[in-house]
Amino acid sequence: QPNALEIEDLVMHFGPVRAVDGVSLTIPRGRVTALVGESGSGKSTVGRCVVRLVEPTAGTVRIAGTDVTHLSRRRLRPHRGAVSIVFQDPAGSLDPRMLVGDIVAEPLRLAGKRISRRDRDARVAPQLERVGLRAEVARRYPHELSGGQRQRVSIARALISEPMLLIADEPTSALDVSVQASVLNLLADLQRDIGFACLFITHDLSAVEYLADDIAVMYLGQLVEQGSRERIFARPAHPYTQALLSAAPVADPVRQRERQPVLLGDDLPSALDPPSGCRFRTRCPLAFDRCATEVPARTPIGDGMAACHLVRPDGTGPDVRTADPS
Ligand code: SF4
Ligand code: MG
Repeated sequence: QPNALEIEDLVMHFGPVRAVDGVSLTIPRGRVTALVGESGSGKSTVGRCVVRLVEPTAGTVRIAGTDVTHLSRRRLRPHRGAVSIVFQDPAGSLDPRMLVGDIVAEPLRLAGKRISRRDRDARVAPQLERVGLRAEVARRYPHELSGGQRQRVSIARALISEPMLLIADEPTSALDVSVQASVLNLLADLQRDIGFACLFITHDLSAVEYLADDIAVMYLGQLVEQGSRERIFARPAHPYTQALLSAAPVADPVRQRERQPVLLGDDLPSALDPPSGCRFRTRCPLAFDRCATEVPARTPIGDGMAACHLVRPDGTGPDVRTADPS
């Protein structure tokens, strides 16, 4: 059986901006990969290339074994239902003039399915219930709902075509903090029940602890580390992953106190003119001469990798959390 998603050497340049610069990523059926990185790292652009909202500059995207990278709109149509996306901001992604029922049913229409109003309503009602909304919500407009309810509508819409792959792009970060956990739990429950594969895009490593099987860490358009959630949480190899994890809140207050957050200082450098050698070197507490001149190779670790000169093939290497600040 083909993988749900295969991305090979994906490149997306917007004019001189190198938003994505050689990303490769595979998601087997039914598994969840979290794509983690700061805002501006290019992670949303990867998601947009996968659902073909933008056509990549180079590289390949395969969904369920089909190369969709350069398919025309018409030839893409039969594959549309295989992948869905939930965006960060439900207010912006739901048409305010459409009834919720029509919004949720829209993917069926876009896939070219002719369907009677009665059949449609019969498909929409259980879909709304599945995301914790009452069937009557179908006759409301998005503005009549709360932010959390609207995001549930987006999720219902994304899942009505029974996609093999769901792209969730920061699905909770525009929501009130009080409802973020419930929407995240809903996604995790649905994933377990239905078994779709998921690319979960987030800037927040703590949000992936209960949802992701695998983690891919992105920095300035490139992946710097990949691996299983267990390995990355227990033994992050790349200095950037270590810094991100050191700053992520944990539920256990004792563990939290033991953490020494590593401060990265400055903002992400510009993707217009990324640093030479290792792109992380301008913020890395361990950077040395070679980091400016040589692009670090991807050292395999288990079934993942880390791209840092200091990481050894057994996955051991630097630890920025104990490094002397210089
Ligand atoms: Fe830091 Fe150098 Fe490793 Fe890059 S290659 S993460 S700059 S030590
Ligand atoms: Mg984004």
